[in-house]
Amino acid sequence: MLSLHHLHPVVEAACLFLLILGRYFVVAGLVFWMLGRFFRNGEAHGNSDKHILCDIRLSVQSAVVFAVAAEMLVSADRFDLTRLYGDPQQYGWWYLGVSYVVVLMLQDTCFYFSHRLFHHPHLYRWFHASHHQSRQPTAWTSFAFDTPEAVFQAGFLLVIVMVLPLHWGTLIAVLATMSSWAVVNHLGLEQLPVSFPHGWLGRWFIGPAHHALHHRQPKVHFGLYFTFWDHLLGTEHPEYLQSASTVSELPQNMNHRLFL
Ligand SMILES: [Zn+2]
Ligand SMILES: [Zn+2]
Repeated sequence: MLSLHHLHPVVEAACLFLLILGRYFVVAGLVFWMLGRFFRNGEAHGNSDKHILCDIRLSVQSAVVFAVAAEMLVSADRFDLTRLYGDPQQYGWWYLGVSYVVVLMLQDTCFYFSHRLFHHPHLYRWFHASHHQSRQPTAWTSFAFDTPEAVFQAGFLLVIVMVLPLHWGTLIAVLATMSSWAVVNHLGLEQLPVSFPHGWLGRWFIGPAHHALHHRQPKVHFGLYFTFWDHLLGTEHPEYLQSASTVSELPQNMNHRLFL
């Protein structure tokens, strides 16, 4: 069990909020600045300051939701209501890796089906429309969820720690993967070398090319980490696979034709 007994829950939630928001500004800011500096500037990227400010405003709201959820998790753990554990040998070392992969697969599955649901005309406006206001996402879009969607995503993590035994280190690894993958998925294709990250990996794992296409054509590409569900349920863009497997042979303009 976690033993930080000294802070009032509200103060603790405020600290978690600053930590989550600080992580967002540092990572998204650095990545956005570096891509603008080494590849193209922000204006060439086609996103106005208005879109970026809207993404930042949504991300601040998401940070509030995730901070409340994190405080609920810490409080629940104090009452022994979670299955989080601290001794890595409790379920064996092998379980640390297996549970990490299992959580990512469950999260990917949950994300895929909820994402499709949030695109339903009756739900879209409330659950997901703001995330799509950036047709060309940037690193700032990585945490820009409509608040009900943020509640759903944070709720998933709360449920997971209550039903699945997870080492604290595994939970932190999952959170780090989730955050960094979200940044990668929203890098915005136009700023990257054409070969990144297509190729063999692009067949199995979701990256900026895959997700950028979802922001342009919301009827395809609903997954989070893996292309599995999109592939199985026919929501993968028919030309994506071709470009992912043969990109090195494609002329640059043909590859970009998919995304512009
Ligand atoms: Zn997105
Ligand atoms: Zn969407």
